[in-house]
Amino acid sequence: MRHACAMADGSWYDGDIDDVIVSEEQIKEKISDLAKQVADDYRAVESVLLVGVLKGAFMFMADFAREMGRHGHPVELEFMAVSSYGQRATSSGVVRILKDLDRDIAGRHVIVVEDIVDSGLTLSWLLRYLQSRSAASVEVVALLRKPDAIQVKVPVKYVGFDIPNEFVVGYGLDYAERYRELPYVGVLKSSVYVRA
Ligand code: 5GP
Repeated sequence: MRHACAMADGSWYDGDIDDVIVSEEQIKEKISDLAKQVADDYRAVESVLLVGVLKGAFMFMADFAREMGRHGHPVELEFMAVSSYGQRATSSGVVRILKDLDRDIAGRHVIVVEDIVDSGLTLSWLLRYLQSRSAASVEVVALLRKPDAIQVKVPVKYVGFDIPNEFVVGYGLDYAERYRELPYVGVLKSSVYVRA
């Protein structure tokens, strides 16, 4: 059993990470830039409704909402939880709602806050769903995007980082429900998978 305590030369998880893909500093800077861009674009809208996709987007949602506030734009927060049927690795595009919106979004300007877009199947289903609930507009801000997503016609207006086609963890993203608390995004050492 590993202990989740900080070591003198870093945190417990640093030893499990092979490669940091996006550092804490880069994330901070990028979220500020994204929020500024969104706040500028939505100047005419009184309050934007952010819809975070649990669990992965929780950390990005929190930081993004704070930055929107700093850039002078009010937001309201909603969360959804969805799961695609079958293996996550081969995202099927058939989505089950685990937690729905708590309120009516008709006439609202919605921004979906996503941790990562891979095949884009989950997101394209979600966009159709939100549009069917008569939102005034629906856009997407995604912190990370993988190469396959660029091939799919999912309109992701705001993208933080285009990353390589590798399985990443951290900053909300998990492997077997672990590593979500990492302040950066990285690739796990192969020995971690052997251990699991
Ligand atoms: P998509 O439908 O775009 O293929 O899948 C998106 C979802 O798959 C994300 O919201 C995330 O939950 C999961 N996912 C995709 N790539 C990764 C990854 O590299 N690491 C982790 N932890 N989850 C991923």
